[in-house]
Amino acid sequence: MPAAELGEQLRAGDRRALARAISLVESTRADHRAQAEALLSELLPFTGGSHRVALTGPPGAGKSTLLDALGAQALLAGQRVAVLAIDPASAISGGSLLGDAVRMQRLAASEHVFLRGSSNAATLGGTAPGTREAVLLCEAAGFELVLVETVGVGQAEQAVRDICDTVLMLTLAGAGDEIQGLKRGLLEVADAVLVNKADGAGEPLALAFAQELAGALSLLRRDGATHVTAVSAQTERGVPELLSWLAARATTLRASGELMSRRQAQLERAFSASLSRELLLRVAQDERARALLPSLETAVKSGDLLPTAAARRLADAVFETSR
Ligand code: GDP
Repeated sequence: MPAAELGEQLRAGDRRALARAISLVESTRADHRAQAEALLSELLPFTGGSHRVALTGPPGAGKSTLLDALGAQALLAGQRVAVLAIDPASAISGGSLLGDAVRMQRLAASEHVFLRGSSNAATLGGTAPGTREAVLLCEAAGFELVLVETVGVGQAEQAVRDICDTVLMLTLAGAGDEIQGLKRGLLEVADAVLVNKADGAGEPLALAFAQELAGALSLLRRDGATHVTAVSAQTERGVPELLSWLAARATTLRASGELMSRRQAQLERAFSASLSRELLLRVAQDERARALLPSLETAVKSGDLLPTAAARRLADAVFETSR
């Protein structure tokens, strides 16, 4: 199907067209990439309108349950919600999609919701290569709240920060996380930390942990405090407040210009990463480079040649032949 036609269907709210378009941007096949770029270029003017929110946290923290609760409340408030679930383990187990559908029952049932698990997400940091583009497609399709769910495994937080406007980190009290260890990761990326399962017997512990975290983070972070709160995805305690906090934050981000500068910085990093990938690809295809590579690798591994010097020699060889 030509890009223009698929784009039109997508903009008209056809969720199957959106799903097809996302498959296209996630594909690594060269012909698919070309179609994806044509489609994205066409749709670019209609993107940018959503609040891009990441939810990260360890397995079992309650991400799916919270997304269902949060999404359901957003729906009640009249928002259209897209959930892009990125599970680095799904490429191996293949089971997360079913699990997500089970846990996000209310969302799965609504026609104002788009749910998507990524099939090829086993990349560095737990975000699929096409996730950034999938977010753009959801925006062109009119979704106002795009929730990106990912398992927090260190690099994943940085990866979602490069895609989203707001990063929510879900954690549990007494999950074995040293507060000191948590802080360092949180400081860099989380805009809000949510201590989940503040219900039943776990309630006092969750409340105490949230208070402890809030105290520690307010001391450490100078550029505005991290929002820290205890929630229960199950009883929906704190969930309406979370939705209000998100709405207020979206307004502030836009009004202050921070949204624009944050997204510009993301695009700059995306460009730089794409350029590195593109150049590496070209180098890998270059005959001189391919001939030179084994001997350079051997010399580097044996300690006879500096890695920097080897890289420069290879680049010199490529750019000389292409002149
Ligand atoms: P995920 O792996 O982070 O997506 O976590 P899930 O949403 O699948 O939840 C893991 C388990 O914790 C499930 O058995 C949920 O029913 C349970 N759970 C999730 N949220 C809460 C909560 O707020 N309170 C309690 N008590 N259990 C929860």
